Amino acid sequence: MRQMVARGESVINLGEGELDFETPDHAKAAGIAAIERGDTRYTAVGGTERLRGAIVAKFQRENGLTFGLEQVLAGVGGKQILFNALLATVGVGDEVIVPAPYWVSYPDMVHLAEGTPVILPATEDTGFKLTPDALASALTERTRWIILNSPNNPTGAVYSAEELAALLAVIAPWPKVMIMADDIYEHMVFAGTFATPAAVRPDLADRILTVNGVSKAYSMTGWRIGYAAGPRWLIDAMRVIQSQSTSNPAAMSQEAARVALTGSLDFLEERLTILRRRRDHVLTALNVCPGLRCPVPDGAFYVYVNCAGLMGGTTPDGHTLETDTDLAAYLAREAKVGVVPGSAFGLGPYLRIAYAVDDALLDEACTRITAACTRIA
Ligand code: PLP
Repeated sequence: MRQMVARGESVINLGEGELDFETPDHAKAAGIAAIERGDTRYTAVGGTERLRGAIVAKFQRENGLTFGLEQVLAGVGGKQILFNALLATVGVGDEVIVPAPYWVSYPDMVHLAEGTPVILPATEDTGFKLTPDALASALTERTRWIILNSPNNPTGAVYSAEELAALLAVIAPWPKVMIMADDIYEHMVFAGTFATPAAVRPDLADRILTVNGVSKAYSMTGWRIGYAAGPRWLIDAMRVIQSQSTSNPAAMSQEAARVALTGSLDFLEERLTILRRRRDHVLTALNVCPGLRCPVPDGAFYVYVNCAGLMGGTTPDGHTLETDTDLAAYLAREAKVGVVPGSAFGLGPYLRIAYAVDDALLDEACTRITAACTRIA
C-alpha cells in the first residue's frame, strides 16, 4: 500500500491501528514545556516519580486499583511493557495461552522469549470471546501466562466483569499461571462496561499484570509511552530488562503522558461519538455487500468482517480467492483499499477494518470495497 501511495495512486488505508485524532493540546504543550525546561536527559529507568505517581493515581481513580510507586513501570509503549514481561518470565518449555484472534505481536513476543504460544480459538459464535471450558482445556503445568485483551484488537470484543470472573475462576487453582491484562483500548467502549481482571479478582492481584498506555485513548502513538502495574517482583524483573535494553522512555514524552493521564477525559466523549458513527457506517455499508457479514464490535476501533461468503470466488482478473489474504490483496489491487486479513490475527477468513480515517474517506472506502466484491463471481 505504501508503494502505491508513493506512486501517487489514490489509496485508502484501513489497515493501521492508529486514529486520525490529534494528541490533546495540553499533552502536547506539556511535551514542549518539558523540552524547553531542559527535561532532555536520562530519567529513572522505569519512568520519573511524577509519571509513576500519575499512573498510580489513574489506576486508583479509573479502575479502583491500589498500587505503590514501586509496582509501576513506564516503558516505550505498551509493546515494550508486554515484551519486558514475557522476556522476564518465559523460557524454553513455558507456554503462553493466546486467544485468537490476537494482536499480531503476542505470539512473536512469546517466540522471542523462547516460549511456546498456545493459540486458543475464540470464535464468532461466542462473540470472539474465550469460554471457561476452552480455557480449562488449554491449561497445563507448563502454562506461564494467559493474555487477555479487552476491548480486543482485532475483533472489538469486550469482556464483561462476569465473563472475566468466570475465566479467572478457571485460572485461580493454577498458582503458577499469571494473567496479562492488555487494557490499551480501555476507553474505547460503545456497549457494556469496561472491566479489568485485577478489579474483578483482587485476591489474584499478585498474579496479574495490568498493561495500558497513552497511544489509543489519547492518540499519542508517536510519543511511545506505555505502562503496567503488578506484583513488585515482576515489575523489578521487567525494569532490569528495560535497563539493559532501552533505559527510560523519552523524558519529554513522559511529561506529556503525565499531563494526559492527570487531565480530564472529557475530550473522549466527542471522539467516541465520531467513532461510533464510523463503526455504524461500516456495519451498514458492508452488511449489504455480497459475501460480507459484520459482527457488531463493542469496543476498540475495528470491525472484523466475516468474508467466508467470498472464499472460492473468482476475481475479474482471474484469481481464485482461497484465503482472506487473497481477498485483501485483491481489494488492494482492485479497490485500492488496505485492510488486514484475519489470518494475520490467527482466525480467518475475516478482514480487519480500522475505521481510523475521516467519514468521507471511510465512505469512499466502503463504496470501493462493495464495488470490488460485487465483481467477484
Ligand atoms: N496492545 C494492543 C492490543 C495493541 O493493539 C497495541 C497497538 O496497536 C498495543 C498493545 C501497543 O501499543 P503501544 O506500543 O503504542 O502502546
